[in-house]
Amino acid sequence: MTRKKIIYTALFWFALVAIVVLGFTAYTYFQIKDYLNSSTSFVVVFVGIIVTLALGIAIAGITAFVVVMNKDKEEVKEEKKMATVIYGSEVAKELKNEMTMEIAKRMDEGKKIPTLCVILVGNNPASVSYVTGKEKACKEVGLGSKMIHLDENTTQAELLKVIDDCNKDNEIDGILVQLPLPSHLNEKEVVWAINPEKDVDGLHPINVGKLHLGEDGFVPCTPQGIIELLKRMNVELKGKRAVVIGRSNLVGNPVARLLMNENATVTICHSKTENIQAVCKEADILVVAIGKAKFVTKDFVKEGAYVIDVGVNRNEEGKLVGDVDFDDVVEHVTAITPVPKGVGPMTITMLLKNTIEACKRREG
Ligand code: NAP
Repeated sequence: MTRKKIIYTALFWFALVAIVVLGFTAYTYFQIKDYLNSSTSFVVVFVGIIVTLALGIAIAGITAFVVVMNKDKEEVKEEKKMATVIYGSEVAKELKNEMTMEIAKRMDEGKKIPTLCVILVGNNPASVSYVTGKEKACKEVGLGSKMIHLDENTTQAELLKVIDDCNKDNEIDGILVQLPLPSHLNEKEVVWAINPEKDVDGLHPINVGKLHLGEDGFVPCTPQGIIELLKRMNVELKGKRAVVIGRSNLVGNPVARLLMNENATVTICHSKTENIQAVCKEADILVVAIGKAKFVTKDFVKEGAYVIDVGVNRNEEGKLVGDVDFDDVVEHVTAITPVPKGVGPMTITMLLKNTIEACKRREG
């Protein structure tokens, strides 16, 4: 409500009270005027006017006070509603458009089309759907994609041979082995067998080492997507207090390192952290990657923080939910990523970006 409206409301009530009280005074005066002498008449009129003014001003004042208090409440409500929801899906779309143009330009210039090879062992339904999503995303932007689908009973030696062939294949710029592998296979040995220059998932120890040394290598896609999201939202990271919950090699550790490389002051929390709520409450930027539905409530969150929810969980109704209780937290933060449509879409997009980058680096 504007200042003008507040004044008009107060004046309206003042006028209404004035009319009622003056009317009542005038009516009373005319009823009893024959019994009054001139000085008592004056007193009646004077008292009538004073009562009118006093009541009018009091009611107008109360009205203005109530209106202003409600206005403040409305403003607070509006402020709370103003938290930005950071849709990774939108940023991913922008990035994919940029990549589509880059690939088209490369084609025009007769350059190689960057190509991703995804190796899937077995038929784990989640893995099959992730791999299909990756192939589809490659097609969307015009990247080349090769899918190698191996039998569930593939041996370690057979898988290592396939990886070796891909390492040597000049058509292939990026290699991704879909994890988890069937339990009889040694994941560590498989990841270590990928040529680090084609390791677009950023899990090879050479790339992990490069990240921690602050050198150019490949960074795991989810952490990279988180930083890209924060940068595209113009979130100032330098000097800010960042807290990451989770210390996995896939998300927690690399995202913490990336935040530190951006000059944030970083704390990592994990399942053994004491007073975790108090630690998280200090964060300007809170990244949550633990895999526990709605673990983070408003008691973990500093007023005005940025919250990045990496978790992907299913609730009792089978719906996707994050590690953060979105509804509980949203009114207290400056910005928050939703689940779904938050961090998830950035992960595949970063895989495409890394494949293009791998191709460019191999070209020299
Ligand atoms: P992870 O390997 O299982 O690691 C979980 C981490 O969370 C561990 O460091 C663990 O601590 C910590 N943790 C577990 N319970 C905790 C608690 N109560 N308090 C504090 N810390 C706790 O999982 P991840 O691979 O990092 O993935 C985490 C979540 O992100 C999952 O929901 C996953 O589905 C999701 N994710 C999403 C994407 C995406 O693209 N959106 C990509 C990858 C992962 P300890 O080390 O002490 O055990």
